[in-house]
Formats: sequence, structure tokens, C-alpha cells
Amino acid sequence: MSSIRHAENKSLWVVRELGLPAIVKTCVSCRFTRHHSTGKIRVNANGKLLDVWLLIGCERCDRTSKIPVHERVHVQALDHERLVMFENNDPAIVRELVHAQRRLDWTGTWELETDMPFYDIESDPHPLEVIVRFELPAPIRVEKLLMAGFGLSRSAVKRSTDSGRIRLPMAVDARAREDFTFQRSYRRNPGR
Ligand SMILES: [Zn+2]
Repeated sequence: MSSIRHAENKSLWVVRELGLPAIVKTCVSCRFTRHHSTGKIRVNANGKLLDVWLLIGCERCDRTSKIPVHERVHVQALDHERLVMFENNDPAIVRELVHAQRRLDWTGTWELETDMPFYDIESDPHPLEVIVRFELPAPIRVEKLLMAGFGLSRSAVKRSTDSGRIRLPMAVDARAREDFTFQRSYRRNPGR
């Protein structure tokens, strides 16, 4: 952090994790495409060979499906600590396995928490630096974050980014999933 930014206001926005994303996979029973994690991992031993599956449930009919994590892997090829976590259905490893799936639906998995000041941001002459921190790697359209964080309409966000009042490190319609910082400057022409 630079110490030169003495006249700058900072704000922290946190993308809070509310839950795990849905796994997009077609159910063999009812053809529904959303599954949730059951929070369980199954480990099967066949001699020295192990199979490890993530167990998921269809959101409509509740049918359980298995997603292979390791197939016929030698017990010594697996990190012992991870094996213990698999056997204990450790929530951290379940989360990791769910996040590693290729097709995910992140709807409803996050909320934006801001510490925006309770004063009129439009009349503050100092630029505001906003640090956006992600608790989960949910891909979120930047425009959506700005709308939620500032309480602005889509067109107001577009005007602010077009005019350079909001300066982003990526395109406004890009999806962010990692921490980033942007600036919002004060209105130079109040009459505009
Ligand atoms: Zn189903």
C-alpha cells in the first residue's frame, strides 16, 4: 500500500460466500440439470486400489449420483492427509471438489457486503478507492458488483465507466472472480 494516498478514501467490499454452487449435470432419472453436493465423499478400497467419489443429489428428484475423483488409484499414491479428509467428509475438501467441477451454477452463492460511508459520495471531493475481496471464486459480472455496491442502475454504471469516473482494471462486462481494486472519482462538472 502506498503511503502517498493520504487524501484518498478507501472502501472494502467483500463478496461473502453463502453456499456451494450447483453442479450442472443431467440427472439420469428426471433429466433435471442441477445437482447439489450431499456433503459426502465415498471411498472404496479394493485391495491396495482406491476409488474416491463425490456424492451429489439431484435438486428435483433427490437421486444420488457419483462423480469420480480418483479411480483405481494406489493407496500410497494418495496423500494420507487428503485420504483422511475424504474419509471424514471434510467440508473443506468437499468445497474444493465442488469448485473443481467444470460446469457450475453460482446463482445464490454470494452476497456483497460493503462498508460504504454514510455520506453523500457525490459531494466528496476525494477519489474513492474500492478494494473488492472474494471469499469464493464465483465469476461475477463487474457491472453487477458496481450496481450492488453503489446502488446504481445499469445505465448509471455505464455512464460512470464511459466517462472515466469509475476506473476499472477490466471491462465493465467482464466477469471477475478474484480480488481487484478500482477507483471512483468525484464529479468534476456538477452541472453535467
Ligand atoms: Zn433427478
